[in-house]
Amino acid sequence: MGEVLVTGGAGYIGSHIVRRLVETGRTVVVIDNLSEGSEKALPGEVELVRSDFADRARLDELFGKREIRHVIHMAALALVGDSVSDPATYYRQNVVGSLALLEAAREHQVEGIVFSSTAATYGNPVSLPIDEEHPTRPTNPYGETKLAFERALSWYRNAYGLRYVALRYFNAAGAHPDGDIGEFRRRETHLIPRLLRGILAGEETVVPIFGTDYPTTDGTCVRDYVHVVDLAEAHVHALRALEQGGMEGESFNLGNGEGFSVREVVDMVGKVTGRRPKTEDAPRRAGDPPILVASAARARERLGWQPRLPTLGEIVQTAWKWHESHPRGYES
Ligand code: UDP
Repeated sequence: MGEVLVTGGAGYIGSHIVRRLVETGRTVVVIDNLSEGSEKALPGEVELVRSDFADRARLDELFGKREIRHVIHMAALALVGDSVSDPATYYRQNVVGSLALLEAAREHQVEGIVFSSTAATYGNPVSLPIDEEHPTRPTNPYGETKLAFERALSWYRNAYGLRYVALRYFNAAGAHPDGDIGEFRRRETHLIPRLLRGILAGEETVVPIFGTDYPTTDGTCVRDYVHVVDLAEAHVHALRALEQGGMEGESFNLGNGEGFSVREVVDMVGKVTGRRPKTEDAPRRAGDPPILVASAARARERLGWQPRLPTLGEIVQTAWKWHESHPRGYES
């Protein structure tokens, strides 16, 4: 089976993937600079290399001494708003950095890569739900950089036979039902953790609702929230498909196929926590498409992926369990 390298494995989604990989009996090595992630998010038996994922010397050393046959590439910058104001940093990290990793993987005979991609590769939808044949016209540099690397993967596959699966997540959310790993960033920008942390922080915290004049039922953005544990499982399926040789190179959507508006999420947070989050209407956030809802039929058919925690209620409940017990994240 060989070993699996997970870049960004100490991060929010990465740590859920690592846990699942260990449960399936795999040997996992994580490379993470801990800019967001935490060592405490990792199972004890997993080696953590604390380094930037694009550090070529570290990668060569790692590939040289371990039997790494597959890479799950999670490490990236992933904030839509920041990518609009600072595209240079996004291109450097997500494209230039990822190409360094790809070069190292190629030279060290890695067989396959699972890549963390995004619904932001599509841009404003011209049809809903969005399937993988939908045009890709990103409305922000974040989506643009992810798409650029998907394309690089496709050309590398053609030329060098390095196989890949790109997983285009819709809105990752929720936390492990055990309540011991979850989402925590130094500067939180995401809707659900912001609302939950706002409730824990008390009365004075007000969460902005970015845009109330979108062409949606209540004027706020609609997103397809997908549970992080279901995302993690999809990576295990993708890895298996690569290991079994049944996958040359393909992109898959991961979502539940149901959209919720920002106001509906606020209501669900109120229902689950029993406390009404404080919000205020605010201008639109740059780069946000009005609606993103997935068709994940291809992942179901080709990867055998089936979400186990598909409801917004389960997503918010598990997130709340984590946040309530870890009000300061892994420092709690
Ligand atoms: N959003 C919001 N207020 C916030 C954070 C997010 O209204 O404080 C909105 C955001 O504009 C988007 C949706 O919630 O429409 C989900 O945003 P998030 O940042 O959670 O994920 P993204 O879609 O950027 O991956």
